[in-house]
Amino acid sequence: MQSYQAANDALKDKVILVTGAGDGIGKEAALTYASHGATVILLGKTVSKLTAVYDEIIAAGGKEPAIIPLDLKGATAKHYRDMASTIQAEFGKLDGVLHNAGILGVLSPFEHIDLPTWNDIMQVNVTAAMLISQALIPVLKRSESASIVFTSSGVGRKGRAFWGPYAVSKFATEGLMQIMADEFDNTTVRVNCINPGATRTKMRSRAYPGEDVSLLKTPADLMWLYLYLMSDDSKDVNGQSLDAQIK
Ligand code: NDP
Repeated sequence: MQSYQAANDALKDKVILVTGAGDGIGKEAALTYASHGATVILLGKTVSKLTAVYDEIIAAGGKEPAIIPLDLKGATAKHYRDMASTIQAEFGKLDGVLHNAGILGVLSPFEHIDLPTWNDIMQVNVTAAMLISQALIPVLKRSESASIVFTSSGVGRKGRAFWGPYAVSKFATEGLMQIMADEFDNTTVRVNCINPGATRTKMRSRAYPGEDVSLLKTPADLMWLYLYLMSDDSKDVNGQSLDAQIK
């Protein structure tokens, strides 16, 4: 499947929300979706990063994106319900959500995990994705074929010393994906997970400050899977946790 090649117009007429669209993997996914014909809704914390992605999409001849500045740490269910109403009013439907925004927190021994850090990581990495999905289900159901994609991690499948709350948040993400996929089985909404694998971004540099980044895959290298799961070519794929880097 790593040889998957999306048609240039694979996402034509699709409306796709990307969280954490201003940087790293989310930025690359937003640009890639737009270059394959989608209207992209850019959600993120830092407005200047979102407007830079907006400008890049317009300069490349993509459809005009929408921008939703939102800090997932403080956002409430009401923010997400209002967002869903705006998307409904503006576009009439939603075809995809990429839950990509995430924080690493601080790697530390178990005995040093503090509750505020734990809560922040759960809030941004898990609770926000759950609430966003819940609010958007009605508008996703208006699509003929909708795809929800969560972002997992290797440490969300097998725990690793010192990865504490981040790893637990990714286990929870895998669980949420499985529960939703089972509930929405045999509907027009499919739910899957991507494990990006080690990728050249700011988050990776924070986790492994000493490593030679030139040896890492770039976000662009992963886009075959991000495209596959948003395109109708994956219409029958549900409840899977897939690796973007196949060894
Ligand atoms: P980056 O740190 O480069 O980017 C994270 C993105 O999430 C940024 O756009 C950031 O916005 C956004 N974000 C963070 N906190 C919030 C918040 N409170 N509200 C809204 N947006 C927020 O990370 P990556 O691109 O590396 O990671 C993307 C996903 O991939 C994450 O879920 C990560 O856990 C996962 N992953 C990454 C791996 C890697 O090696 N890079 C490996 C395995 C999984 P801003 O810049 O404005 O803060």
